[in-house]
Amino acid sequence: MPGHRDDYGWVHSWDLSLGVDGPGARFVLFTAGCPLRCLYCENPDTWTPRGGRLTALADVLKQVGHYRSALRTAGGGVTVTGGEPLDQPVFVARFLRACRELDLHTALDTSGYLGHRASDEMLADTGLVLLDLKSFDPATYRRVTGREVGPTLRFAERLAELGRPVRIRFVLVPGLTDDPANVEGVARFAAGLPNVEQVDVLAYHRLGVAKYAALNLPYPLPDTPEPGEADLRRARERFAGHGLNVT
Ligand code: SF4
Repeated sequence: MPGHRDDYGWVHSWDLSLGVDGPGARFVLFTAGCPLRCLYCENPDTWTPRGGRLTALADVLKQVGHYRSALRTAGGGVTVTGGEPLDQPVFVARFLRACRELDLHTALDTSGYLGHRASDEMLADTGLVLLDLKSFDPATYRRVTGREVGPTLRFAERLAELGRPVRIRFVLVPGLTDDPANVEGVARFAAGLPNVEQVDVLAYHRLGVAKYAALNLPYPLPDTPEPGEADLRRARERFAGHGLNVT
Protein backbone atom coordinates (compact mmCIF):
# COMPACT_ATOMS: atom_id res chain seq x y z
CA MET A 1 0.00 0.00 0.00
CA PRO A 2 1.53 3.37 -0.93
CA GLY A 3 1.46 6.27 1.55
CA HIS A 4 1.04 6.24 5.34
CA ARG A 5 -1.50 3.84 6.81
CA ASP A 6 -3.30 6.71 8.58
CA ASP A 7 -4.05 8.11 5.14
CA TYR A 8 -6.29 5.09 4.55
CA GLY A 9 -9.52 4.09 6.22
CA TRP A 10 -12.17 1.41 6.00
CA VAL A 11 -14.95 3.10 4.09
CA HIS A 12 -18.31 1.50 3.35
CA SER A 13 -19.65 4.15 0.97
CA TRP A 14 -20.52 7.81 0.55
CA ASP A 15 -23.73 9.51 -0.43
CA LEU A 16 -25.49 12.87 -0.46
CA SER A 17 -28.37 13.73 1.88
CA LEU A 18 -30.56 16.68 2.64
CA GLY A 19 -31.63 17.84 6.09
CA VAL A 20 -31.15 14.58 8.03
CA ASP A 21 -27.42 14.29 8.75
CA GLY A 22 -26.82 17.87 9.87
CA PRO A 23 -27.75 21.29 8.48
CA GLY A 24 -28.42 21.63 4.76
CA ALA A 25 -27.11 19.35 2.02
CA ARG A 26 -24.45 16.89 3.23
CA PHE A 27 -21.74 14.73 1.77
CA VAL A 28 -22.10 11.68 4.02
CA LEU A 29 -19.16 9.35 4.57
CA PHE A 30 -20.07 5.89 5.92
CA THR A 31 -17.13 4.25 7.66
CA ALA A 32 -17.00 0.50 8.26
CA GLY A 33 -16.50 -1.07 11.69
CA CYS A 34 -18.59 -0.71 14.87
CA PRO A 35 -18.23 -2.19 18.38
CA LEU A 36 -21.98 -2.03 19.07
CA ARG A 37 -24.65 -4.43 17.85
CA CYS A 38 -27.83 -2.42 18.13
CA LEU A 39 -30.91 -4.58 17.80
CA TYR A 40 -32.48 -2.01 15.49
CA CYS A 41 -29.35 -1.32 13.42
CA GLU A 42 -30.25 -0.74 9.80
CA ASN A 43 -26.66 -1.03 8.55
CA PRO A 44 -25.37 -4.46 9.62
CA ASP A 45 -23.18 -4.37 6.51
CA THR A 46 -21.05 -1.71 8.29
CA TRP A 47 -20.34 -3.76 11.44
CA THR A 48 -16.90 -5.00 10.45
CA PRO A 49 -14.09 -3.06 8.78
CA ARG A 50 -14.08 -5.55 5.95
CA GLY A 51 -17.67 -4.63 5.25
CA GLY A 52 -15.97 -1.67 3.58
CA ARG A 53 -12.91 -1.10 1.42
CA LEU A 54 -9.58 0.28 2.49
CA THR A 55 -9.77 3.70 0.87
CA ALA A 56 -7.29 6.53 0.50
CA LEU A 57 -8.20 9.78 2.24
CA ALA A 58 -7.17 11.57 -0.95
CA ASP A 59 -9.82 9.65 -2.91
CA VAL A 60 -12.56 10.59 -0.45
CA LEU A 61 -11.46 14.23 -0.51
CA LYS A 62 -11.51 14.20 -4.30
CA GLN A 63 -15.18 13.21 -4.13
CA VAL A 64 -15.89 15.93 -1.56
CA GLY A 65 -14.17 18.40 -3.88
CA HIS A 66 -16.70 17.65 -6.64
CA TYR A 67 -19.51 18.88 -4.39
CA ARG A 68 -17.74 21.56 -2.37
CA SER A 69 -19.27 24.65 -3.92
CA ALA A 70 -22.76 23.10 -4.09
CA LEU A 71 -22.56 22.13 -0.41
CA ARG A 72 -21.39 25.60 0.55
CA THR A 73 -24.11 27.28 -1.50
CA ALA A 74 -26.74 25.04 0.15
CA GLY A 75 -25.49 25.86 3.67
CA GLY A 76 -24.42 22.26 4.16
CA GLY A 77 -21.20 20.36 4.65
CA VAL A 78 -19.90 16.89 5.38
CA THR A 79 -21.02 14.26 7.90
CA VAL A 80 -19.08 11.19 8.96
CA THR A 81 -21.22 8.29 10.11
CA GLY A 82 -21.00 4.52 10.01
CA GLY A 83 -20.58 2.06 11.37
CA GLU A 84 -18.78 3.94 14.10
CA PRO A 85 -16.41 6.67 12.86
CA LEU A 86 -14.45 6.69 16.14
CA ASP A 87 -13.37 3.13 15.41
CA GLN A 88 -10.85 4.88 13.10
CA PRO A 89 -10.09 8.09 14.97
CA VAL A 90 -6.93 9.10 13.12
CA PHE A 91 -8.38 8.67 9.65
CA VAL A 92 -11.59 10.46 10.62
CA ALA A 93 -9.70 13.28 12.35
CA ARG A 94 -7.69 13.83 9.18
CA PHE A 95 -10.84 13.83 7.10
CA LEU A 96 -12.55 16.39 9.36
CA ARG A 97 -9.47 18.62 9.41
CA ALA A 98 -9.18 18.52 5.62
CA CYS A 99 -12.87 19.41 5.23
CA ARG A 100 -12.48 22.32 7.62
CA GLU A 101 -9.57 23.52 5.53
CA LEU A 102 -11.97 23.38 2.55
CA ASP A 103 -14.18 25.69 4.61
CA LEU A 104 -16.95 23.10 4.91
CA HIS A 105 -19.17 22.58 7.96
CA THR A 106 -18.36 19.24 9.60
CA ALA A 107 -20.52 16.82 11.57
CA LEU A 108 -19.68 13.57 13.35
CA ASP A 109 -22.42 11.00 13.90
CA THR A 110 -21.40 8.68 16.73
CA SER A 111 -22.75 6.47 19.50
CA GLY A 112 -20.12 8.03 21.75
CA TYR A 113 -19.07 4.61 23.02
CA LEU A 114 -15.53 5.22 21.74
CA GLY A 115 -15.58 8.91 22.63
CA HIS A 116 -12.31 8.58 24.54
CA ARG A 117 -10.61 8.04 21.17
CA ALA A 118 -11.59 11.51 19.91
CA SER A 119 -8.88 14.06 20.66
CA ASP A 120 -9.76 17.61 21.68
CA GLU A 121 -8.24 18.76 18.36
CA MET A 122 -10.54 16.44 16.44
CA LEU A 123 -13.55 17.74 18.33
CA ALA A 124 -12.45 21.31 17.64
CA ASP A 125 -12.61 20.39 13.94
CA THR A 126 -16.14 19.03 14.40
CA GLY A 127 -18.83 21.66 13.92
CA LEU A 128 -21.62 19.45 15.24
CA VAL A 129 -21.73 16.11 17.05
CA LEU A 130 -24.78 13.99 16.29
CA LEU A 131 -24.78 11.93 19.46
CA ASP A 132 -26.85 8.75 19.28
CA LEU A 133 -28.00 8.29 22.86
CA LYS A 134 -29.65 4.94 22.42
CA SER A 135 -31.05 4.75 25.96
CA PHE A 136 -30.38 6.12 29.41
CA ASP A 137 -31.32 3.17 31.59
CA PRO A 138 -28.16 1.00 31.84
CA ALA A 139 -29.99 -2.32 31.44
CA THR A 140 -31.93 -1.07 28.42
CA TYR A 141 -28.76 0.32 26.82
CA ARG A 142 -27.05 -3.04 27.32
CA ARG A 143 -30.02 -4.87 25.84
CA VAL A 144 -30.19 -2.52 22.84
CA THR A 145 -26.47 -2.32 22.04
CA GLY A 146 -24.68 -5.16 23.86
CA ARG A 147 -22.46 -2.52 25.56
CA GLU A 148 -22.47 -0.20 28.58
CA VAL A 149 -23.97 3.29 28.55
CA GLY A 150 -21.27 4.87 30.76
CA PRO A 151 -18.74 5.77 28.03
CA THR A 152 -21.42 7.58 26.01
CA LEU A 153 -22.60 9.59 29.01
CA ARG A 154 -19.01 10.53 29.86
CA PHE A 155 -18.40 11.61 26.25
CA ALA A 156 -21.55 13.75 26.34
CA GLU A 157 -20.31 15.45 29.51
CA ARG A 158 -16.89 16.04 27.96
CA LEU A 159 -18.51 17.64 24.90
CA ALA A 160 -20.41 19.92 27.28
CA GLU A 161 -17.18 20.88 29.06
CA LEU A 162 -15.59 21.65 25.69
CA GLY A 163 -18.67 23.60 24.61
CA ARG A 164 -19.02 21.64 21.36
CA PRO A 165 -22.45 21.85 19.69
CA VAL A 166 -24.43 18.61 20.04
CA ARG A 167 -27.61 17.24 18.59
CA ILE A 168 -28.94 14.21 20.49
CA ARG A 169 -30.57 11.45 18.48
CA PHE A 170 -32.91 8.97 20.12
CA VAL A 171 -34.63 6.13 18.27
CA LEU A 172 -38.05 5.22 19.65
CA VAL A 173 -38.50 1.44 19.46
CA PRO A 174 -41.78 0.01 20.78
CA GLY A 175 -41.18 -2.43 23.62
CA LEU A 176 -37.47 -1.67 23.70
CA THR A 177 -36.59 2.01 24.25
CA ASP A 178 -40.04 3.53 24.75
CA ASP A 179 -40.45 2.89 28.46
CA PRO A 180 -41.48 6.29 29.91
CA ALA A 181 -38.76 6.09 32.60
CA ASN A 182 -36.12 5.48 29.93
CA VAL A 183 -37.32 8.35 27.72
CA GLU A 184 -37.51 10.58 30.78
CA GLY A 185 -33.94 9.63 31.69
CA VAL A 186 -32.65 10.58 28.24
CA ALA A 187 -34.62 13.84 28.34
CA ARG A 188 -33.40 14.82 31.81
CA PHE A 189 -29.80 14.02 30.94
CA ALA A 190 -29.98 15.98 27.64
CA ALA A 191 -31.60 18.94 29.40
CA GLY A 192 -28.66 19.09 31.81
CA LEU A 193 -26.20 19.68 28.96
CA PRO A 194 -26.04 23.35 27.95
CA ASN A 195 -24.50 22.55 24.54
CA VAL A 196 -27.42 20.43 23.27
CA GLU A 197 -28.99 22.44 20.46
CA GLN A 198 -31.63 19.95 19.44
CA VAL A 199 -33.04 16.49 20.09
CA ASP A 200 -34.19 14.33 17.18
CA VAL A 201 -36.69 11.66 18.17
CA LEU A 202 -36.48 9.17 15.33
CA ALA A 203 -38.96 6.43 14.58
CA TYR A 204 -37.69 2.86 14.47
CA HIS A 205 -38.32 1.46 11.02
CA ARG A 206 -37.96 -1.93 9.45
CA LEU A 207 -36.11 -0.92 6.29
CA GLY A 208 -33.09 -2.97 7.40
CA VAL A 209 -34.94 -6.32 7.18
CA ALA A 210 -33.83 -6.97 3.60
CA LYS A 211 -30.18 -6.24 4.46
CA TYR A 212 -30.20 -8.87 7.22
CA ALA A 213 -31.70 -11.38 4.84
CA ALA A 214 -29.05 -10.58 2.22
CA LEU A 215 -26.32 -11.13 4.85
CA ASN A 216 -27.94 -14.35 6.05
CA LEU A 217 -28.42 -12.86 9.51
CA PRO A 218 -31.57 -13.33 11.59
CA TYR A 219 -33.44 -10.04 12.00
CA PRO A 220 -33.19 -9.24 15.76
CA LEU A 221 -36.64 -7.66 16.13
CA PRO A 222 -38.92 -9.86 14.04
CA ASP A 223 -42.12 -8.88 15.85
CA THR A 224 -41.46 -5.23 16.72
CA PRO A 225 -43.82 -2.75 15.03
CA GLU A 226 -42.86 0.76 13.97
CA PRO A 227 -44.06 3.40 16.48
CA GLY A 228 -47.26 5.30 15.74
CA GLU A 229 -47.59 9.06 15.46
CA ALA A 230 -49.11 9.25 18.96
CA ASP A 231 -46.12 7.37 20.45
CA LEU A 232 -43.71 9.77 18.77
CA ARG A 233 -45.69 12.79 19.88
CA ARG A 234 -45.70 11.60 23.50
CA ALA A 235 -41.94 11.07 23.45
CA ARG A 236 -41.31 14.47 21.84
CA GLU A 237 -43.53 16.15 24.42
CA ARG A 238 -41.44 14.60 27.15
CA PHE A 239 -38.29 16.19 25.70
CA ALA A 240 -40.04 19.49 25.06
CA GLY A 241 -41.25 19.42 28.68
CA HIS A 242 -37.62 19.77 29.71
CA GLY A 243 -37.23 22.89 27.58
CA LEU A 244 -35.43 21.06 24.78
CA ASN A 245 -35.75 21.97 21.12
CA VAL A 246 -37.14 18.74 19.67
CA THR A 247 -37.96 17.46 16.20
S1 SF4 B 1 -23.93 2.12 16.56
FE1 SF4 B 1 -24.92 2.44 14.57
S2 SF4 B 1 -23.81 1.12 13.12
FE2 SF4 B 1 -23.26 0.44 15.18
S3 SF4 B 1 -24.68 -1.25 15.59
FE3 SF4 B 1 -25.59 0.63 16.44
S4 SF4 B 1 -26.92 1.46 14.84
FE4 SF4 B 1 -25.54 -0.07 13.88
